[in-house]
Amino acid sequence: MSSGKRVLVVGLGIAGMSAAVRLERAGWTPVIVERAPERRTGGYFIGLFAEGKQAAQALGISDVLHTRTPERKRSWEVGRYGERHRGVGFLEQPGEPEAVLRGDIEQALWSRIDGRVEVRFETVPASISPHGDGVSVTLRGGSGMTTEEEFDLVVGADGLRSTVRELVFGPHERFMKPLGAVICAFQMSRQIPEFRSEDALVIAEARRSLWVFPLGDSAPTALFTYRPDNVDAQFSRPPVEVLRGAYAGLSADGAVEVALNELAHAPQYLFDSVHYVEMPSWHRGRVVLLGDAAWCLTLYSGMGATSAMRGAALLGDMLDKHGGSIEQALQEWEQQLRPFIRKHRRQASFKAQVFVPSSRLLNRARSALLAWGARRKLRAALAAQTAG
Ligand SMILES: Cc1cc2nc3c(=O)[nH]c(=O)nc-3n(C[C@H](O)[C@H](O)[C@H](O)COP(=O)(O)OP(=O)(O)OC[C@H]3O[C@@H](n4cnc5c(N)ncnc54)[C@H](O)[C@@H]3O)c2cc1C
Repeated sequence: MSSGKRVLVVGLGIAGMSAAVRLERAGWTPVIVERAPERRTGGYFIGLFAEGKQAAQALGISDVLHTRTPERKRSWEVGRYGERHRGVGFLEQPGEPEAVLRGDIEQALWSRIDGRVEVRFETVPASISPHGDGVSVTLRGGSGMTTEEEFDLVVGADGLRSTVRELVFGPHERFMKPLGAVICAFQMSRQIPEFRSEDALVIAEARRSLWVFPLGDSAPTALFTYRPDNVDAQFSRPPVEVLRGAYAGLSADGAVEVALNELAHAPQYLFDSVHYVEMPSWHRGRVVLLGDAAWCLTLYSGMGATSAMRGAALLGDMLDKHGGSIEQALQEWEQQLRPFIRKHRRQASFKAQVFVPSSRLLNRARSALLAWGARRKLRAALAAQTAG
C-alpha cells in the first residue's frame, strides 16, 4: 500500500538501492537520481560477514544474491623474493565471510527495483532545502535543465564525496578524515602464475601491500594499498605508472609485475585515497545520509557494504514504527545504528594495519599474529580430521 510519501534517494550504489528497496516495501515512492549515465557493474571483491548476510536477508535479496566463495580456501603470505608460507586470508577470518563482487550486491538490489522505482541517470541535486514538513530540491539533469521538486524525505547515499552532505551539512574537509593511504582495486583476467585459482595471496611490507582475492567462479581481484608520503601527488599520473614507482624493488617472484600488467589492461579500476567519514549527526530535518556518505568505515573495515544495507533496512523499520513522525524515526534510527558503526570504526584502525602495516615493527607484529592464526587453524583442521 502506498503511503503517498515521496523519498528522493541520491546515488544508485549499495546504500541508495538498499534504501529504495526497503522504503518502497514500506509504502514510500522512491525516486533515485544518479550522476553516472548508466548503472555500473563489476567492481571489486567484497566480503560479507554474518551481519551483511542478515542485512541482505532483511532486504529480501538473499535468494538472488550471487556469491563467489571458493570451495577450497587457501591463503599464502608471499615474501619479497617469492618465499611463501600459509597465512590466514580474508575469507578465513572468524565469521567466514562470503565472497561477492560489489556488482553482485548491486545486481541483486537492482532486480528488486527495476521497473518498480523511477531512476533518473545523469541527474544530481543542485540545492536541497529542508523545511518544516518536507524538503525542496533542485535537480539538474544531463542537459543542464533544472527542476524544482518537493519530497517528504531525502536520503543522501552518494558515497564518500557526497554532494548531499556538502549541500546540507558542510564542506568535505569537516567530515572526511584522511588515513594517508591509497588503494587501487580491479579485477584480473587470470590468477598469478604458480598459484591455484582458489589461492589468496598477501604480499605485505611496511607501508605497501598487494592482496589477491580468489573468487569461486571468476578470475581473482587485486588490491594494491600503500601509504605514500604525499597522497595528493599520487593522482597526477596514470595509476600503473604511479604504482610501478610505489612498488619498486618488491617483486615477490614476479607476482607484483603480473598484477601491474593486469592493471594496465583492466577495463575498469578504482584508484583513490582512503578517508573515513565522521559526523556528529547523520540527519538534519528530513535529510538523512546513509552508507559511505555518512560514516565511511573504509575498505579495511570490511563492513562498508554491510553497514549500508543494515542502515537502510533499519531506516525502513524505524519509518514503519514511527509512521506519523519522520523526525522521531530518524532519531531512533541513528541512536540504534551508532553503536554498530562505532564498534566497526574502532576495529577498522586495527584491520588497516593488517592490510597495510604503517611501519616495520607493525609489519613484524602482523606477520607474527598471522603465523599464529595459521598454526591455530591448521591445528583445528588436524583435530577435526582426527576426530572424524
Ligand atoms: C577495494 C574495496 C574493498 C571493499 N571491501 C569491502 C568488504 O569486504 N566488505 C564490505 O562490507 N565493504 C567493503 N567495501 C566498502 C563498500 O564497497 C562501500 O562501503 C559501499 O559500496 C559504499 O556504498 P555506497 O552506496 O554508500 O557508496 P558508493 O558505492 O560510492 O555509491 C554512491 C553512488 O552515488 C553516486 N553519486 C555520487 N555523487 C552523486 C551526486 N552528486 N548525484 C547523484 N549521484 C551521485 C555515485 O555515482 C554512486 O553510484 C570495500 C570498498 C573498497 C573500495
